[in-house]
Amino acid sequence: MTVRGWAWVTLIVLGALLAVVVAVLIPWQRPPAPRADQLAALAELPADRVARARALRGELRWNTYPAMLVGLGVALLLGLTPLGAWLVGLVPGPWLAKVLGGGLLVLAVADLVTLPFAAWRHTVLVRYGLSTQGWGGWAGDLLKGYAVGAVLGAIALLGFFGLTRLLPNWWWAVGAVGAAGLVVLLSFVFPVLVEPVFNKFTPMADGPLRTELMELAARDGVPVRDVLVADASRRTTALNAYVSGIGPTRRIVVYDTLLREAEPAETVGVVAHELGHAERGDVVIGTVIGALGAAVLVVGLYLLGGWAWLLRRAGVESIAEPKAIGLLLAVAAVVGLLAGPAQAVVSRLIEARADEHALELTGDPAGFERMQQRLSLVNLSDPDPPAWEQGLFGSHPTTVERMAAAREYARTHG
Ligand SMILES: [Zn+2]
Repeated sequence: MTVRGWAWVTLIVLGALLAVVVAVLIPWQRPPAPRADQLAALAELPADRVARARALRGELRWNTYPAMLVGLGVALLLGLTPLGAWLVGLVPGPWLAKVLGGGLLVLAVADLVTLPFAAWRHTVLVRYGLSTQGWGGWAGDLLKGYAVGAVLGAIALLGFFGLTRLLPNWWWAVGAVGAAGLVVLLSFVFPVLVEPVFNKFTPMADGPLRTELMELAARDGVPVRDVLVADASRRTTALNAYVSGIGPTRRIVVYDTLLREAEPAETVGVVAHELGHAERGDVVIGTVIGALGAAVLVVGLYLLGGWAWLLRRAGVESIAEPKAIGLLLAVAAVVGLLAGPAQAVVSRLIEARADEHALELTGDPAGFERMQQRLSLVNLSDPDPPAWEQGLFGSHPTTVERMAAAREYARTHG
């Protein structure tokens, strides 16, 4: 069999494995809460706040989607015309300089083009009181984000072009393993190395709430080293909590805004939801899916590299030369755009399961509903967004779906 033949076999095997993992580990059997309950919940939310949230989301729509389109357009322009190859060609020196310099140049162009959208978005969030950042803090976050992106991009590009030079025929096999390993490694080190770049984390102060949360975790059988508080109020008024990391780096993080704004019972509900993620190993599931996806992408990239039309369009002879960085960006942009809605579907199912876990663990559907109301009202999220938008981009069930799920739980559990 030819090398390409082996690559096809590998792609099919990895794709099948990914399909099996997604089919088995994702809780597919999860009917949405009754629409009548959702509408009843919606009617109870303060109309003026809902109107304000919808006004904000309506304004942001004119930012998010054009930014997405422009970002995709620029990536395609850099990858499917000789423009990207020309840009990389401007960088003098050996291949290493071309890879790093060219990669930074291409990324910088892509970032610069969407920069006005990010700035405009910031002004909208400030106007609605959701962002507490001045331009200085905003720019600082932006630069930190670029720096993290540049470091990760450099690692990926050096790995890719280093391997293709070392193993011109079989780089995809080693690269697939390497990319999967990198995803796993990132899951471990992200909370320790990257999250502190943006926020300060301190252990939650001793007190009745902390005791209650640790007891909750113990009762749930989920070993939690600590509950950390992030100083999110430096940049936002929004309320949030999340769980990240695997094994020894696993932690539950709550925003300081949550502790300030919400009743203790609501914070307990939020943490109970996060414990649901920990108990079901959702971070591990996400990491496994991400690792398999990364491996599929590398093998797919090798096979794409055999497509003469594509290479001609990009003005390169091989996908393994530094001049093809623009083409790599274009592929990444298209894959990212297509993967987004699939990720949203999976994420919503996992989030609904964590909600169910929170209801079972706390046995307090009324508190859960109050918490959902508060999250939606403070974060100015549309409690009942248009179905197309929720279907394509919603990472969580909608607020009214989550409130309705609590009502259904209350009905069935007395
Ligand atoms: Zn969640």
